[in-house]
Parts: sequence; C-alpha cells; structure tokens
Amino acid sequence: MIYLDNAATTFKKPEAVYRAAAQTMRSCTTPGRGGYKAAIRAAEAVYSCRETIAKLFNVGAPERVIFTPGATYALNTALRSLVRPGERVVISGYEHNAVVRTLHALGAETAVASAPLFEPDLMLEAFGKQLEKGVAAAVCTHVSNVFGYVLPIDDIARLCRERDIPLVIDAAQSAGSFDMDFSSLGAASAAMPGHKGLYGPQGVGVLLCSDRYRFAPLVFGGTGGNSMPREMPDFLPDALEAGTQNVPAIAGLREGARFVSSLGSKRILAHERKLAALADKLLREIPGVETFYPKDPETGSGIVSFRASSCGCEELASAMAERGVAVRAGLHCAPLAHETAGTLDTGTVRASVSAFSSEKDIFSMAFAARAALKECSK
Ligand code: PMP
Repeated sequence: MIYLDNAATTFKKPEAVYRAAAQTMRSCTTPGRGGYKAAIRAAEAVYSCRETIAKLFNVGAPERVIFTPGATYALNTALRSLVRPGERVVISGYEHNAVVRTLHALGAETAVASAPLFEPDLMLEAFGKQLEKGVAAAVCTHVSNVFGYVLPIDDIARLCRERDIPLVIDAAQSAGSFDMDFSSLGAASAAMPGHKGLYGPQGVGVLLCSDRYRFAPLVFGGTGGNSMPREMPDFLPDALEAGTQNVPAIAGLREGARFVSSLGSKRILAHERKLAALADKLLREIPGVETFYPKDPETGSGIVSFRASSCGCEELASAMAERGVAVRAGLHCAPLAHETAGTLDTGTVRASVSAFSSEKDIFSMAFAARAALKECSK
C-alpha cells in the first residue's frame, strides 16, 4: 500500500517505537502502584517520555507535560479549564471539530477569525480585530489538518500575550514537523496527539500546560499518590492524569519523540514540503484537478488537498484505494475549515506525507489519481 494518510495517523513508525511498546508490555506495570521493579520501570518510562517532550518543545518543567488519551482529550481539558459557559472565545476559521464541538458543548460564544487560505497576514488581521477585552480565550490550529495551511502562530501568540488572553494551540498537525518553543510563545496550552508527527502509537496525546493558568481535570480518580483526600491533587501532572496510563503507548511515544529530536523537525519539514510540492505539481497537471497548496512551497507543510471537477471526492479516494493508494476524502472532521476555504459543498481528497514517504509514493499517488479519474469520468 502507498500510504498517504499520515495526517490521520503515521502508519510506519521508527523500529524503536514498536520495540519500546512491546517491551514495555512485557516488563512494566503502572507507575505509582507499588515499590516493585515493574512499577518502578513504568514510572521511569513515563518520566523519561515527559522529559523528552518537555525538551523537544521547551516546556520548562516535565511536570507540565500531561499525558492524555489523545489530542481531542487534551483540547477538551484545556478548553474546559479556561472557558465558562457563555464566555467569548476567538477561534481561527480552520479549527477541527475537537475544538468547535467542545466549545459548542460548553455553551461558549465563538467568534471566528476568518481569512482566505494561505493569507497569513489577513488571518493575523482577523485575530487582531476579534481579540478584544472580555475574550476568555483564543484557539488556533498551527497547521490546518485539511489544507496543510500554516497559520501565523508566532504572531497570533504575540497578540494574545500583549492582550493577556490565554491561547490554546492545536498542534495536532505541526508537532514533530515544526519547531515549537512553548515557553517563548507564552501560550496557555498546546495539545497534540502522539500518533501523528511524533510517531508514537495511538492512545496517547499530550497537553503542554503553562504555569500561568490553572487546569481542571476532565475525569476524576486514582493517581497512585496520596489516596486519602476526596479531592484530586492540585499539582501537575497528577491533577490531570487520573486512572491507569497507557504506559506502552507512552514508552513508544518517547522513542517517536527521540526519533524526531535526532532527525530534527527542520529536516523532516523540508522532506515533507518537497514531497507535498511535488504532489501539488503532479496533481495540477491532471485535467480538471484543483489543488490547494501555497504558491511558495517554503510556506507549505506535508499536506495537499485536491478535488476534481469530474468526480466526487469519496468516489475518487475509493478508486485510488482500489489502486493501492491510501488517501482521505470528505470533510476531515473540520467542516469549519472547508466552509472558510469554500470547499464545504464538495469536500476534498487529502494526501499527507511523513518522514518515511518517498518521491516514488508521490508519483504512484498521482498516477493512481489520473487512472481513477479516467475511469470516473467515463
Ligand atoms: N486537531 C486536529 C487539527 C487534528 O487533525 C486532529 C486529528 N485528526 C485532532 C485535533 C484530534 O486528534 P486525536 O484524534 O488524536 O484526538
């Protein structure tokens, strides 16, 4: 299979990730649940992952790296901590349902900072207009999961700092491929899954927490520490990590994050950009195909969305799957992004690469798209 759905989950992982997850299942139990070796090894595995992530994103203290079951859970934790029902929250026009639905369920009033695709100056201007007094929080995805559009997160973070508005960064599509200095950004929190650009297994995500804000747990329960009080501990990470952790996934994530650190995000991004720009070029050569990628490939990421005038996106992706190419079609859990970009009526097909993708994958994908479209328009 030519796998180009890495924006959903990176499928190929570094060997060390598979090894660590399997070995941890054989040799570790759960941290804080006993003074025996298997529990101590588990605590060491979890702590070393915390340290690796803290270093990768310059978090300051490993304790402010919280493990969650995924980015969705991390975003829910951050938003439910910072926003009360009825409060106003400014979000970008490219947010995922993990943000949009959470704010809706919270009863927050959302104001959308909307600007066309690949126009970071206009996006910054839109945030600038909306970030006024009384705004409880701002939420911005670093990279759109649909279009690979890189939002001007440094400038948006600066605006939020200047206006003292807590910023929640959805780093689901950027973590691993983009450098992020969490301390310098001064954001309240950043959420990311372990299973995408950090090359970990599914079932673990991360919430980075600033020490300037208080975070409340989504769920309550045992933490392995002081069991007597009815209240959850008020210190991190225990306050936000009730219940038994996914230790094998965390151990795998540590190896994924080490892989990213050793290669360097800059190198990974350069590779991904090169492949995505090639995909954009090859797809644009197919008659009737419209692609969504920035004119300057140096501002792109590893995601290219496209659609065809002669064939529906679901049909096109299915025909490509029959030819052994895995891409994703539809609205990608982000109808707001499609609404903002003007593709809500059709959706798009999304091809997304990883550090393990090759030029050959891209040529095969474009060949499959061309063949599928020939059949589709018959
Ligand atoms: N935000 C964005 C931008 C995403 O792409 C995703 C994953 N599709 C999420 C949040 C949610 O991540 P997870 O499914 O790992 O919880």
